[in-house]
Amino acid sequence: MNRFFMTTAIDYVNSRPHLGTAYEKVCADVIARYKRLRGFDTRFMMGNDEHSQNVYKKALEEGLEPLAYCDRMEQEFRSTWRRLDVSFDDFIRTTEPRHKLGVTEVAQRLYDAGDIYEGLYEGWYCVSCEEFKTDKDLVDGKCPLHPTLTPEWIREKNYFFRLSKYQQPLADHFAAHPEFLQPEIRRNEMLRLIEGGLTDISVSRAGQSWGIPLPFAADSVVYVWFDALINYASAVGLGGDAALFERWWPADLHVIGKDITRFHSVIWPAMLMAAKLPLPRTVFGHGFMTMNGQRMSKTLGTIVDPIEAADRFGPNGHDPLRLYLVKEIIFGSDGDFTWERYDDRYNADLANNLGNLVSRVTAMAHRYRQGRLVTTAATSDRLAGVAEQVVGAYAKAMDAFAVHEGAAAAYRLIDATNEFIAATAPWTLAKDPASADRLTQVLFDAAEAIRLSAVLLEPVMPTSCREILRRVGASADGLTFERDGCWRRDGERVLVQDGPLWPRVGADRRVDPKEQSVSSDDIKPEGVPPVAGAPALVPETPLKAPDPATVPGAPGVPPVTATADRISIDDFMKVELRTAKVLAAERVPKSKKLLKLQVDVGTEHRTLVAGIADAYEPEALVGRTVVIVFNLKPATLMGVESNGMVLAASPEGGKPTVVGFDVELPPGTRVR
Ligand SMILES: [Zn+2]
Repeated sequence: MNRFFMTTAIDYVNSRPHLGTAYEKVCADVIARYKRLRGFDTRFMMGNDEHSQNVYKKALEEGLEPLAYCDRMEQEFRSTWRRLDVSFDDFIRTTEPRHKLGVTEVAQRLYDAGDIYEGLYEGWYCVSCEEFKTDKDLVDGKCPLHPTLTPEWIREKNYFFRLSKYQQPLADHFAAHPEFLQPEIRRNEMLRLIEGGLTDISVSRAGQSWGIPLPFAADSVVYVWFDALINYASAVGLGGDAALFERWWPADLHVIGKDITRFHSVIWPAMLMAAKLPLPRTVFGHGFMTMNGQRMSKTLGTIVDPIEAADRFGPNGHDPLRLYLVKEIIFGSDGDFTWERYDDRYNADLANNLGNLVSRVTAMAHRYRQGRLVTTAATSDRLAGVAEQVVGAYAKAMDAFAVHEGAAAAYRLIDATNEFIAATAPWTLAKDPASADRLTQVLFDAAEAIRLSAVLLEPVMPTSCREILRRVGASADGLTFERDGCWRRDGERVLVQDGPLWPRVGADRRVDPKEQSVSSDDIKPEGVPPVAGAPALVPETPLKAPDPATVPGAPGVPPVTATADRISIDDFMKVELRTAKVLAAERVPKSKKLLKLQVDVGTEHRTLVAGIADAYEPEALVGRTVVIVFNLKPATLMGVESNGMVLAASPEGGKPTVVGFDVELPPGTRVR
């Protein structure tokens, strides 16, 4: 059996995990669960980084022995990951004996190879980053990440690693293995860094007790970063258990944050080369989570507690959170979280879409067929065709770690199933005895599409998808992609009718009363059985996504009353709207409102200016797909030529929100 060994970054334990930390673990967990579904013998490892001076200080502040403090934090981290249903197989702490063995082994190997030498380090050190800094790294003499702290000037005897020696071998490795560092944007950054020349790095700290002593100089401890990187190999037996190491090393995938790409794709592989050990196959550097467009920070009050986010939707609320993190953010780009958007996506994707679909199909199966469905002679290949296309796209995306595209693909099947029900109108078929077989087949196909969607989404929403499988009469035991991840026409299905999976979040949860101005009468209920006097099948939930952005009369859209004011379709078609992907964004100097964007419109790259700077941090837009007026005459704003206009909704007194999509679309897609 193929094996797959993957890791996340290990976390400093001087504060509790926030949503940004959770984002990485959830996405990695989705990959791990997908690999298991594909039949890989999977080992998914996470852990805590404990040999940090900040941890040491924090423990003293709390009046605890460092190790006792780390024990307590381990429980905090583990309980958070449990709450989010993160299915790691191994959890390493860098204070464990197995890790000390690995670190000692690597340090000794590098020393024996002549790649570690003694020298004098003199320079800046940011205590909060726990990183040596050059003048170039500092802004006005301060670490840009910690502008309130003054970096320390240190001068001490250190041991250095000959990183410079590995410049060419690293460049060669990058050239021979394009898959080594992903996504592309990180790869390009690191290639530039390597080509710019590498300098030797300090790998020890003198006069400290909290850390692992160097095997050849017991008065120094291994520098925390050098120590931490080795966890990936020490966890699978380096320096201790040769058979285990042989079985699992090299790692297939390291999932890390983009800020630590240099450590993982330059320093770590150079260390492994020097130690004559194989390199990990792939390092994937994901983006940052922001809240309301701002970096998550305690002082800004922009920290989101992942447990609070999961608890918002009840005991199984981890699944809606996981779906949001995976589906709403391009894996590799930065992503934003707002409580409003979280509620909106919950209502749109779960309450109104998937949850409602499951309720309707199980209810119709019970109403018309006592809950039992079989295949008939009647055929309807429509959904089966969509399913085949979706499964292919899903597997391709997931194999490439594009978890957001995998989730979007599964949602295409769910959308197609809703459309299929609206088009086939089972409630009409039910009135005509001659259509009995056809009705059975329509319901069977809908149930089958739900089953398949649940299998594809199982890595993202394990608990909920298992419940959906139960309701459509399929077993969730021993799921495999090979057997369960394709369209099946076999057997009898006994469907289970039960309460709503995801009750809609009501008006009382919302702060903006304007958003509630859409009455339920405005919403055309698609697929409601128009049986006179009969109650709706699922009275608990209104039937189709009342997404305010798509409903006429939504905030910001003046009501159109007189036909004289209206334009013809020909007039409208003169306006060419297209999707564009934001490649780069920056503020226009001296302007409070304007952002300068570089966008990919499919056929070319363009520069345009958008008046959305008060609503979006530039970084939060990069990677997003927006809608632009493609054929607008160029205009110059604050000295920048703008070639097109970004569409945004501008509620009165509120901040603009750019128009976006539920699914990933290629740049240049026509919008009309
Ligand atoms: Zn710093």
